[in-house]
Amino acid sequence: MAELNLNKDIQLKIDKLVKARELALTDENKREYLGFSLIGHECDRFIWLKFRWAVNEEIPGRVYRIFETGHIEEERMSKYLKDIGLDLKHIGEEQLTLRYSPWVLGHPDGIIFSGVPGAEKSTHIWECKTANNRSFTGYEKHGVQNHKQEYYIQVQANMYCSNKCDEQKMAKINRCCFTVKNKNDESIYHERIKLDKALAERFLERADSLVYADELPPGLSDKPTYFKCKMCSMWEFCHGNKCSKEVNCRTCNNSYAEKDGTYRCALYKNKAIPFDFQKKGCDNHVFKPSLVNWARVPSLDTEFSLGYIVEGKYVVNGKDGNSSLNILDGKITKVDLIKDTFGAVEIE
Ligand code: SF4
Ligand code: SF4
Repeated sequence: MAELNLNKDIQLKIDKLVKARELALTDENKREYLGFSLIGHECDRFIWLKFRWAVNEEIPGRVYRIFETGHIEEERMSKYLKDIGLDLKHIGEEQLTLRYSPWVLGHPDGIIFSGVPGAEKSTHIWECKTANNRSFTGYEKHGVQNHKQEYYIQVQANMYCSNKCDEQKMAKINRCCFTVKNKNDESIYHERIKLDKALAERFLERADSLVYADELPPGLSDKPTYFKCKMCSMWEFCHGNKCSKEVNCRTCNNSYAEKDGTYRCALYKNKAIPFDFQKKGCDNHVFKPSLVNWARVPSLDTEFSLGYIVEGKYVVNGKDGNSSLNILDGKITKVDLIKDTFGAVEIE
């Protein structure tokens, strides 16, 4: 018995440790911007929900260790490439930021200035991934574009935006060297990818427009059984309870993304909200209607509050009514606006 607990306890402790480390490194759950790694996702709604921090994706500790393996292997592969003579820079903590717009940007794994066999003098974006045996075979058989569209779009965006770098002046790079490491048997796959300008533009423009889209865009399918939805971390929101539980500025109806890269609040005189504050929001938070499954009652709206029916009760959410957290917790106290208008059920 003691042995069984030992096994479980050690794993749990390691999971917790790695999760904290990975979150400190990437803050994956609440990113300020839309990363190039996300913009190739097939579903507009998925991208929008991620940018709005509307769903807390429960990622098991084991998966954080897979992320960590990716970082470790990237460092190892970069060392090999340098040791065989490739001039690879801007790796690890020195990664560059390439920017399409204030909200849409990426960090390539590195820049190879020379030495790629067959194209020794050309500069390449470097991207490094790890794969299990099955996925690795997919890369070998079908190439990056057909096997992993999201990665293909990611490197297209990196190439397209390579001349818009925060840290240094660079000419546009129109080649990528894509490395894949097989975690099962140590095989390595390499592919050179050319810039497809029209494709990169299409996905970058789409990502930028999703940043400014005020309401939930359509998803890939309305069918809960659709296989891509069944594998998606947003399934519960789209096909289950259809109700966000995330109270933060990004899910608040008073907030909006500005073209200058600030996130602003209409309630607080359109002031820019500091990033750390956005993660918590304030007591005046009011859910965007498309993020909750409560029926709307527009006649109860005030300038910064919205009327809903929640569990059969008329409720005002926001500054002039109930806080979002209280509604989610079932602690609805304010129905005064409603009694006269609707004779609604009074809260005891
Ligand atoms: S569950 Fe389906 S519709 Fe919802 S975000 Fe995922 S892919 Fe899109
Ligand atoms: S009302 Fe509060 S939660 Fe909503 S955007 Fe403004 S500061 Fe954030």
